[in-house]
Amino acid sequence: MKKPVLVIGSGVAGMTSALRLANSDFGVYLIEREAAIGGQAAFFCCKATEVCTKCSACLVPQKLKEVATHPRISILTDSMVTRVTGGVGNFQVELWQKPQYISRERCIACGICLEICPTEPKAIHPPSPEAVPYSYVIDESQCFRLRGQKCNLCQGVCPTNAMDFDREQERKELSVGAIIVATGFDVFNAREIGSLSYGRYPNVLTGLDLERIFSREGCLKLPSRGKEPQNIAFIQCVGSRDESHGYCSQICCKYAMRFARVIKYQNPDAQVTIFYIDLQTAGKGFAEFYEECRESIRFVRGVPVEILETSSRELEVRFENILQGKVGRELFDLVILSVGIAPRKDSWEMARILGINLGDYGFFDTKEPFNSIETNVEGIFLAGTCQSPKDIPDSIAHGISAAERATEALERCK
Ligand SMILES: Cc1cc2nc3c(=O)[nH]c(=O)nc-3n(C[C@H](O)[C@H](O)[C@H](O)COP(=O)(O)OP(=O)(O)OC[C@H]3O[C@@H](n4cnc5c(N)ncnc54)[C@H](O)[C@@H]3O)c2cc1C
Repeated sequence: MKKPVLVIGSGVAGMTSALRLANSDFGVYLIEREAAIGGQAAFFCCKATEVCTKCSACLVPQKLKEVATHPRISILTDSMVTRVTGGVGNFQVELWQKPQYISRERCIACGICLEICPTEPKAIHPPSPEAVPYSYVIDESQCFRLRGQKCNLCQGVCPTNAMDFDREQERKELSVGAIIVATGFDVFNAREIGSLSYGRYPNVLTGLDLERIFSREGCLKLPSRGKEPQNIAFIQCVGSRDESHGYCSQICCKYAMRFARVIKYQNPDAQVTIFYIDLQTAGKGFAEFYEECRESIRFVRGVPVEILETSSRELEVRFENILQGKVGRELFDLVILSVGIAPRKDSWEMARILGINLGDYGFFDTKEPFNSIETNVEGIFLAGTCQSPKDIPDSIAHGISAAERATEALERCK
């Protein structure tokens, strides 16, 4: 019997490791702290114009389907690992699963409970269209019943008896041979740079907002006026390459250029400007893509320092024009902050539980500088952006390598 493997985190890296192992006859426990699997990229939009721009977002739903139906992968959502003992070949893992007041197996996402829920805002949330498992969830802080008041409305109308308010959090113990940590990243919080006014002006958005808007609406409208924007600026390196994040996030130049192309494709009259420090065009075919972009998109080498709203609700971007060596000001109707990849704020807690090291900036560290998979603890491996910034293809490649290393380690301790 092959000892199962634990994969912590079900983003694209964790799902890839899980599939690779399960397809090699290993049982896999895939642990996810949220109610649905898939990680950050699960709701990213396709950025194709008349041609595919290879953003890789379409690879994620494909993996979601495979993971959800794989007979050797046990998915545990709403779950957190709290203790790990033992060593390679024989780790003992304690985890806690939050109470699932709506059974993931029984819920058919019909929405009747949502209609009848009397709280404002609603205590019951529908799943996002891509969510796996596709079931409603209850927000404990809003639900009358879970706050000790009398309410039984949703339970009374549920056609599949999916509500169970007696559920308690469950402790589980697993015995596994190896552990793959694939806990991913936090998107940089643009509010941390107050002068860029995110959260203050409605027409200042982030790259993550754009992912959500395009996947929901398929096109871009000004949040303040509902009209198509005509003059758009992207600001690069927001939360990357600064004093606290001295690294390149690797993904922002690419997603900004792809979005810029989609915007121009949908509205050829729109003016799009990208403010950058220097552009990362590494990767097969991306230098050519950049050359194509230069035909219709303006690139300004400059560091925007402040965004202010004028009385006519335009956005004035103040920037240092690096090439001209002077300060510039320009007006736009929409500004997109290209936010980068930050280490998860709770990585230190995971590091403490697993006994693994944290490296520069708070990403997990490896035992040797030229090995991006193996940690200081034998049998515990890293996959994806919890180790360093990566795009989807690199996270997939890393997930495959982590699965291979785990397989080799288990072969060795047979
Ligand atoms: C704005 C933006 C746009 C992007 N656009 C693109 C693009 O167009 N193309 C591209 O290739 N890349 C893009 N990327 C990068 C892409 O998001 C990442 O490459 C990818 O999501 C990395 O996957 P991951 O599995 O490493 O991490 P994640 O997607 O972060 O997944 C990690 C998972 O682990 C879970 N988790 C965390 N901690 C725990 C814990 N303790 N226990 C259990 N579960 C846990 C999380 O809830 C999450 O589900 C973009 C990134 C950003 C920020």
